[in-house]
Amino acid sequence: MNLNDYTVTERFLRYVTIDTQSDPASGSFPSTEKQKNLGRLLVNELQDMGIEDAHLDEFGYVYATIPANSAKRGIPVICFCSHMDTAPDCSGAGVEPLLHKNYQGADIILPDDPSQVIKLSQHADLKNQIGHDLITASGTTLLGADNKAGVAEIMDACYQLVKHPEIKHGDIRLLFTPDEEIGRGVDKVDMKKLGAFAGYTVDGESAGNIEDETFSADGAVLTIRGISAHPGFAKGKMESAIKIAAAVIAAVPAELSPEGTDGRKGFIHPVSIEGHVETATVNFIIRDFDDEKLTGHAAVLRKIAAEILKEFSASSSDLEVRPQYRNMKNVLRQHPQIVDYAMEAVKRAGLNANLRSIRGGTDGSRLSFMGLPCPNIFAGEHAFHSKQEWVSVQDMQKAVDTILHLCMIWEERYE
Ligand SMILES: [Zn+2]
Repeated sequence: MNLNDYTVTERFLRYVTIDTQSDPASGSFPSTEKQKNLGRLLVNELQDMGIEDAHLDEFGYVYATIPANSAKRGIPVICFCSHMDTAPDCSGAGVEPLLHKNYQGADIILPDDPSQVIKLSQHADLKNQIGHDLITASGTTLLGADNKAGVAEIMDACYQLVKHPEIKHGDIRLLFTPDEEIGRGVDKVDMKKLGAFAGYTVDGESAGNIEDETFSADGAVLTIRGISAHPGFAKGKMESAIKIAAAVIAAVPAELSPEGTDGRKGFIHPVSIEGHVETATVNFIIRDFDDEKLTGHAAVLRKIAAEILKEFSASSSDLEVRPQYRNMKNVLRQHPQIVDYAMEAVKRAGLNANLRSIRGGTDGSRLSFMGLPCPNIFAGEHAFHSKQEWVSVQDMQKAVDTILHLCMIWEERYE
């Protein structure tokens, strides 16, 4: 028997026990050395499958190629991508995955901390899981289905492709990244080495979901220079930068706040503030699906600051706006087949395809603008970054099927 004769579930159960938490405070790359432990294991498993070029680079990325077995020469290279790290929000050390067979809708009490209860009433997607086998953590850690479900699915799809040469495909590239959860997941990707025409991150939620849109995102820093004076003798002189900053924040319309928006509406959101009487700095994030509206939101903020500053004639301010990432749809609409094939693959896997947008960003939004158009397909992960994270065995299997169908569809459509 081949050493690698695991099911997707067996792979998943092995990967989640390896602690791969990333660390935003670290200046190294990857942010934590321990992420390479999973990277090394994946490389070993890939090499055991006969994937000769599988390797881990100095930054903690795993690259591998499943060589084409189709006689056709014009099939574009496609890439499947998942991240190996888990979120800093919740411990990922000593994860003990638990398998709950044949879920029937009852609350799941996590044994190592019985205050952690996964309730049907709070996890709407559980209603689609009756009769399925669920995997959770034991109550004191996250599970790490985000994104080790995706890692296990890509690994198992690779194994199936190797084992079943009757499934025809072009060159398939695999990419496993570190540090996605701290926003650095694609910082050191070697795009030339990757050399793919299209990519798919496998990091989505419910079975059947495909995401082809993310926010466009800017960061804005508002700096205010006020006038300091001894508070006992400040009448008519002092202009407190703290109070000016507070007035600007208070003037941002409620209908442009995260707590006041959903669906396709964007927002202006102060994320941190530091201030003294003389100077104050406010960091904002600005989000919208539409780039013009995004620019419009920055203009609103600029106008508010200018209006407030009129009341403080000796003070000054400036607003520096920096782009963070852009809506991947701007790239994907130039190559509609990338999403169309994914929709088709989901249907062939026996699911309803559900095209959605993400009120956030993904590695794919940055990859799309680095030359690799890259929508997101479901991995089955739920309640990520929490102790109540769960995934279903059947959904993971459907994700493997979707990946296999996607490889076949790309082969079918080219000469
Ligand atoms: Zn993720």
